[in-house]
Amino acid sequence: MTHVVAEPCVRCKYTDCVEVCPVDAFREGQNCLVIDPDECIDCTLCVAQCPVGAISIDSDLPPQWAEWLALNARLSKLWPMITKRKAPPADHAHWAAVESKRSELSERPGGA
Ligand code: SF4
Ligand code: SF4
Repeated sequence: MTHVVAEPCVRCKYTDCVEVCPVDAFREGQNCLVIDPDECIDCTLCVAQCPVGAISIDSDLPPQWAEWLALNARLSKLWPMITKRKAPPADHAHWAAVESKRSELSERPGGA
């Protein structure tokens, strides 16, 4: 079992979730976060923190976001750890209202 970040996070990246994680499982891409499944202990604390409902436990992952289980596993090994909240992108409110934005996902690492 693991928790998974899915499509609503893309280009929103509010980072409210990272501060509550007791095992520092979040990893940062250029415009999205993912969770390292080898670190997540399924405490559930991050789920309620996400303003756009991007985080689910894998067993409850909506079918349209099934791909995100593998995406989190793969990208979490490529992206740096994030443990401190930071300001979201300037256009986050626009992207929070966009339902289909998978094509916007950047696989480039975030941070710096
Ligand atoms: S709180 Fe939600 S939208 Fe924000 S970074 Fe975490 S998963 Fe992404
Ligand atoms: S469920 Fe808990 S351990 Fe897993 S990513 Fe969320 S806050 Fe971290």
